[in-house]
Amino acid sequence: MTDADRLASARLWAAHHYPYLASALFAIRFVSAPNIGGLAADEHFRVYVDHHEISGWTADLLGVEMVHQVGHLLRGHASRAREIGLVEDDLLHWVDSADAEINDDLVQTHVAPVDSAFPVDLGLAPSLFAEEYFVNGERRIGIRRDCGSAAHGDPRRWEEPPPMKDTDGVRKEETDLIRRRVASEILSHQRTHGSSPAGLLRWANTLLYPQVDWRRELGATLRRGVAEISGAVNYSYQRPSRRAYCSPDVILPSLRQRVPRLSVVCDTSASMNESLLTEALTEIDGLLVASGVRPDAVSVFTCDAEAGPAQLIRSASEITLVGGGGTDLTVGIDAAIRSRPRPDLVVVITDGWTPWPTSAPRGIRTLAVLLGETPPASPRWVQEVVINDMTSPTVEVEER
Ligand SMILES: [Zn+2]
Repeated sequence: MTDADRLASARLWAAHHYPYLASALFAIRFVSAPNIGGLAADEHFRVYVDHHEISGWTADLLGVEMVHQVGHLLRGHASRAREIGLVEDDLLHWVDSADAEINDDLVQTHVAPVDSAFPVDLGLAPSLFAEEYFVNGERRIGIRRDCGSAAHGDPRRWEEPPPMKDTDGVRKEETDLIRRRVASEILSHQRTHGSSPAGLLRWANTLLYPQVDWRRELGATLRRGVAEISGAVNYSYQRPSRRAYCSPDVILPSLRQRVPRLSVVCDTSASMNESLLTEALTEIDGLLVASGVRPDAVSVFTCDAEAGPAQLIRSASEITLVGGGGTDLTVGIDAAIRSRPRPDLVVVITDGWTPWPTSAPRGIRTLAVLLGETPPASPRWVQEVVINDMTSPTVEVEER
């Protein structure tokens, strides 16, 4: 059997036992690398092979090693290592930590990768992240395994330069596509067979359904807006300054703290997700009360293709939805900024499928609360918070 045949049959073994990893396994390009002592990978799906070393390996060991290397690539161990800012002395301890995260998900009845760490080798429980094994794990003494830059992001002497063309290796954009494809294969394997490994399921769910805490983000943005406005010092001539006695001929402005006035422009077109809208309104309501904004300082405009009359409300949840059909928020925003007293902050709640005014209203902050999975971008002068459906179809991780 030639070296190429051995690699091909090991790859088939791997794809048979880990069918959800097939897209990643078949993206691998093998590169010969004498004296590296087994297999290693780089970030471009190139797996370096020491043919002399692996000549005595069985197909299943070679297959397990491929699955292991693909594990580093899918889980982004190289970029995670860069985020921690590894120093040279920590490189192999990080490899052990990343290995523990991967090996935890390997089928237990198969052979284990050569000299590769498991959670127990680092003195810790399974199902942790590489970062946890790295910080809290014991260091292994006398065993060194270097899986290459796919594991730690530091190119090894045997590695090829970054790919210039597609046949050289997988480039960044394609890597992202492979990851997403594998993640969705893992979730569908779980639905049909119920046997995707827990760590990979967790990874796939996080990749496909990142859950940003929009309540925290909305709260922070709104509180910042309100605080900046109410903290803004307004030099008002309406009340004479107490310093006026110093210079009786000049009327000095006095300092007054402004009560921020808010307008909420609410898209009520047919495309709006009503349950998200209710959640957003309830949240805004609570935030305004908590920020000390007086109810009479908030006016609400409902808007589809035409702005409804301004509704003055005591609570955002009192809003009456009217309209349906298409959206033109420029009308609603225009109605809000023409109202008197003029608002300091306009909060626009929409799914984003609307034209926007061509420029920022003068002296008024605009915050867009965008509802939905992938709302279109709003103009640069708008601060935005995206509210996703929190009941995304996350596949449950089964306890092992
Ligand atoms: Zn490894």
